[in-house]
Amino acid sequence: MERAATDFPLRVTRYFAGLMKKGDADDPLLRQVLPTRRELDPTAGYGPDPTGDLAAAAGPGLLHKYHGRALVVTTGSCAIHCRYCFRRHFPYAAHRAHDRQWRDLAESLAEKKEVSEVILSGGDPLTLANSRLRFLIERLQEVPHLDRLRIHTRLPVVLPARLDRELLSILTESRFRCVMVLHVNHPAEITTWLATALAPLRPAGVTLLNQAVLLKGINDALDTQLLLCEKLFDIGVLPYYLHQLDRVAGAAHFEVSRARAKALHEQMRCRLPGYLLPALVEERPGSAHKHPL
Ligand code: SF4
Repeated sequence: MERAATDFPLRVTRYFAGLMKKGDADDPLLRQVLPTRRELDPTAGYGPDPTGDLAAAAGPGLLHKYHGRALVVTTGSCAIHCRYCFRRHFPYAAHRAHDRQWRDLAESLAEKKEVSEVILSGGDPLTLANSRLRFLIERLQEVPHLDRLRIHTRLPVVLPARLDRELLSILTESRFRCVMVLHVNHPAEITTWLATALAPLRPAGVTLLNQAVLLKGINDALDTQLLLCEKLFDIGVLPYYLHQLDRVAGAAHFEVSRARAKALHEQMRCRLPGYLLPALVEERPGSAHKHPL
């Protein structure tokens, strides 16, 4: 376990650890963050950059894969280290946008006239202090053809207090239409603290979506997925994507076969209203879109 944690250390918030069941080595939240020696097993087909991020690099910290959208790698930091993370080997030092490059980044985006949506990603963009986020968003607002700001974050799920009033002001004062895409994998991650922290966002016009990763032994049971979708709706979040695992080195033991994933998704389709059914997708490097399975 120590060797598995050398390059990608164990990291978890006290809050998230507090949601785990004590004494249960199979707790679904614990298994997402606890390094295991299985991460050291080399597995054919698994590599350091499973989604082709590096080939999509288009400027300082900028990834441009899909028409109309560009993604900013704002930071390499996260409040939690998910063992299955597809960017666990990402060379953040060379490929993230440092503060001094944020003006250059806005200039790069200004040249990409077809881009109307900018996605803040990382790492987790909400590990940035509010002052830095405000500065970055102000620079992005100077690009006239950007309309939408999307934030990909797991931070509210592992530290709900991060959604503070100042952050809300930054989002509501910007001219962007804002979308926050959370990352919740299991119904036990949905708490009254999370619900309370998210409550002001929707009335403020922020669209709330969720993307989950299908993980063997963690959320690959029908009841778990149904409860996840329903509890997300209860807190005002729509299930958006259920991702087939990206084949990143060290995460092979989390993979659910495509056949099982498709069968599970069909069962979900029979039980959920269409608006609560996330799209089951996988990412293929170099493709112009995510692929529905
Ligand atoms: S929070 Fe997101 S970026 Fe950070 S380790 Fe987890 S999956 Fe990866």
